[in-house]
Amino acid sequence: MTRTVYVNGEYLPETEAKVSIFDRGFLFADGVYEVTSVLDGKLIDFAGHAKRLERSLGELEMPAPCTMEELLAIHREMVARNGLVDGLIYLQVTRGAPADRDFAYPDAGTEPTIVLFTQSKPGLADSPVAKSGIRVITVPDQRWGRRDIKTVQLLYPSMAKMMAKAAGADDAWMVEDGSVTEGTSNNAYIVKDGAIVTRHLSTDILHGITRAAVLRFAREAQMRVEERAFTAEEAQAADEAFVTSASAFVMPVVEIDGQAIGSGRPGPVAARLREIYLEESRLTAV
Ligand code: PLP
Repeated sequence: MTRTVYVNGEYLPETEAKVSIFDRGFLFADGVYEVTSVLDGKLIDFAGHAKRLERSLGELEMPAPCTMEELLAIHREMVARNGLVDGLIYLQVTRGAPADRDFAYPDAGTEPTIVLFTQSKPGLADSPVAKSGIRVITVPDQRWGRRDIKTVQLLYPSMAKMMAKAAGADDAWMVEDGSVTEGTSNNAYIVKDGAIVTRHLSTDILHGITRAAVLRFAREAQMRVEERAFTAEEAQAADEAFVTSASAFVMPVVEIDGQAIGSGRPGPVAARLREIYLEESRLTAV
């Protein structure tokens, strides 16, 4: 089935959608994005994603293509036009396509480019992988220094994913100065003696929307949370490990660099957090 995508104000069949070869997203990776999950036809934590988008745009002095209210309406229309039940909506915004290639940002007259597309994932919340867990390897974090901005510069995370695949693992955790930063497309956690440990917010990691929600729910459930750096060795000796993201929700990690974590099976804290996250975020879905 041909998808309907959204490009600069128009809903079009995916085969007819076009973006200029001068688009700065293509030439300079001068763009930001968001991924919002859809469960039962409703957007999960749209407000969180819209807020982070505004922040990413602000940090890069990039004009917003529309208001956040309009953005919500476009997301909803995309769900409706594509008959999306469970899946993901990708939103990409770039600094647009000026007449010529130039490192300097174009003047205010250049309209930003906005693209939305959907990816259907039937049964997204019931992924069998959540029951078996994933295996990760560690790799050096060789990304740029503003990982708090959700840019489309995803080449190194793609390379890291390929390193994981080549090693027979599912994903990679990136390590810098001896500590784990995050996964290729998710935030990383360990559980030790009942405490949930995840790296503190800074420019070193993306401020995950799922991370914020999961930590809030964990604290509401009286679980202990420590926001601090941890090493790969500490992770290997943990009782549990897991990752969070808008597309994977809470996903157990059962092996790090070939070392089984805890029992080698998904642990109870990750399972409980996944349950609470899905339950609570469905309640506020729009
Ligand atoms: N960290 C990185 C590097 C990511 O790319 C992502 C999501 O794509 C996340 C963390 C998780 O963020 P969120 O929970 O907002 O999806």
